[in-house]
Amino acid sequence: MNYRHAFHAGNFADLHKHAILLALLSALQAESEALAVIDTHAGAGAYDLAGEMARRSGEAQAGISRLRRATDAPAVFAPLLAAVATISRSDADLYPGSPLLLGGHLRKSDRYTGCELRADDVALLRRTLATLPTCAVAQADGFETAARQAGKGGRAFVVIDPPFERPDDYDRIVATTREVLRRAPDAALAIWLPIKDLETFDAFLRDMETVTGDLLVAELRLRPLIDPMKMNGCAMVMIGAPAAVDLAAGEAGDWIAARLGEPGGRSCVWRT
Ligand code: SAM
Repeated sequence: MNYRHAFHAGNFADLHKHAILLALLSALQAESEALAVIDTHAGAGAYDLAGEMARRSGEAQAGISRLRRATDAPAVFAPLLAAVATISRSDADLYPGSPLLLGGHLRKSDRYTGCELRADDVALLRRTLATLPTCAVAQADGFETAARQAGKGGRAFVVIDPPFERPDDYDRIVATTREVLRRAPDAALAIWLPIKDLETFDAFLRDMETVTGDLLVAELRLRPLIDPMKMNGCAMVMIGAPAAVDLAAGEAGDWIAARLGEPGGRSCVWRT
């Protein structure tokens, strides 16, 4: 458990993930009266971009800082940019994580549970969400919590965003998705994945296709996949996503590939 999201907060992958998550949340709210959001890997909830971890990596500088300065950012980024502007102060730029973004966009009928294992991040998360009455924090394994809670108290919307430090993370995503859909066939899920090489990504998609034929995949490559030791891109794999999300995911990926990517970067959105 060495992973700290503070090194990566606000990078290109966060922009892709968070813009798509907010578009998906909004589309699900349009078709469901009450959502029970389970964020299996919540992190700290908000990140100080002036802090040591963010400054050392420089990833936010190449991500959210460039998006904030852009004059051609498409509409899909508007909710994320508004959330960033709301929490940032002039002396310390803050970047919201998935708990604050999702929790901040809930209706009175929706609920959010953020799962996190690290005690230090749990403490930060509790503080970050303290003023949001529809949000709860569980210091618990997110995969187990999603499998247990799906189907209780509203349409399940499960967000899975592991650090991929453990070799079984891919298998646990597949098993959790299977169990969530068994308990709650109308559940929506959003899964974040790094893309280093194509075989790992393809193998995961093949496994997911044994669970459901309803996948929306938003793939983003920042550069050609020449060096499998690098995170060359990322993907959001969604289940139960309304049609409106396809366009939003394409807008986000196309802008990031063109403006933050290297030659050979590209974005692609498809359904299985
Ligand atoms: N979803 C967050 C966001 O977008 O702002 C970022 C989450 S970060 C990629 C992954 C987090 O999962 C880390 O904070 C890590 O400590 C936590 N974690 C790792 N394994 C976990 C597990 N089995 N259950 C819950 N949290 C876990």
